Amino acid sequence: MTKFRKAFFKKLRDEKYTILIPNMLPIHIRLLAMNFQKFGYNAKMMEVGGRKVKDQGLKYVHNDACYPALLVVGQCIEELKSGNYDLNKVACFMTQTGGGCRASNYLSLIRKAIQKEYPQIPVVSLNFSGLEKDYSIPTPPKMIFQGLTCVLYGDMMMNLYNQTKPYETYKGEADEILDDCFKYISNKLDKGGFFKTKKNYTYMIDKFNKIKIPEKRKPRVGIVGEIYVKYSSLANNDLVDFLVKEGCEAYSPALSEFISYCIINIAYSHKDYGTSYLESKIAYTIYKIFNRMALKQGKMLKGTQYIPYEDFEDIRACTSEIISPSVKMGEGWLIPSEMLEMYRHGIKNIVCCQPFGCLPNHIVGKGMVRPLKKLCPDLNIAPIDYDPGATKVNQENRIKLMLANIGREAK
Ligand code: SF4
Repeated sequence: MTKFRKAFFKKLRDEKYTILIPNMLPIHIRLLAMNFQKFGYNAKMMEVGGRKVKDQGLKYVHNDACYPALLVVGQCIEELKSGNYDLNKVACFMTQTGGGCRASNYLSLIRKAIQKEYPQIPVVSLNFSGLEKDYSIPTPPKMIFQGLTCVLYGDMMMNLYNQTKPYETYKGEADEILDDCFKYISNKLDKGGFFKTKKNYTYMIDKFNKIKIPEKRKPRVGIVGEIYVKYSSLANNDLVDFLVKEGCEAYSPALSEFISYCIINIAYSHKDYGTSYLESKIAYTIYKIFNRMALKQGKMLKGTQYIPYEDFEDIRACTSEIISPSVKMGEGWLIPSEMLEMYRHGIKNIVCCQPFGCLPNHIVGKGMVRPLKKLCPDLNIAPIDYDPGATKVNQENRIKLMLANIGREAK
């Protein structure tokens, strides 16, 4: 580690800088922020949302840029303008995969936008691709493993929440349980109970069991697409809530699937692109460990009223039928493989969320609709574009059309 990097992050910790994290996935990000706090960083998830975030973003980022970048900038600026922070003790944070599309330019794009208004505010990142090393948060192995565990807890809560939300006995019941689970888990993690997964999962399952899922379930609608837009309610205009209102169960894939996708891509880059052999071996080992950790959720959910997430190995197995595993730009082979796997598990209605300006995900999302329909003629996919100018009504009407086409039983 360079001297500068060491000193810089020590300063952030010692001087208690507030590190603002975009709220792509509220449950997961709150847990990950807690993990950062355990390593001395005063991390906080940004809460601000609404139209004003999009308008702020448009002021600083050209509307040709990817929509997620525009939203992240808008959210940072809006949060900084709230007056809640000492502007000399705050930093903005981004996770970054460093993909070959515009993803590798995100950091400089965001830094340029934020520093135009606040030159003293640093932009730091979490990335494993060596981008802007001096501003990349150092990640000791313990931090990584605890972070991965947080992702899995987040997945479990999201899965239980999405499956029970449509059947709550009063409005807000599932949200109350989610809140309770969050308090419980944060307390446990605070006391170092990161790896008591069996006990922690059992608590969550018991709590959500208060809501009974009827035998005849509502139609399940899958949500796939670019990572930020498919998860963030700010970006996708509250898609999960909308699907629930339309009489469906929303199925958001686990975040661990995207992480597994990133790790396995590194593992196979040696074979595909001649990158370091050692790096690929290490990545493969981490992938194996992480996959085993993720599978534990399936075992815990066996015999319960819940459907567990798919084994990532099964999703990977779908790839060879539909796309080359070397397609790694954006969400690459993950999007069509997830759609195929969903179909095989009875999810025949899928919303494919794509941000404006995202070429790779248009190719592997919208571009794969035809080959997928060839394989699965009764699969219904609604590719929806999200951008600051798109109206919610238009997007919802397109989804309604899909629901009307595929199942009157959805109503
Ligand atoms: S995947 Fe799409 S949205 Fe994400 S950085 Fe690349 S081009 Fe932008």
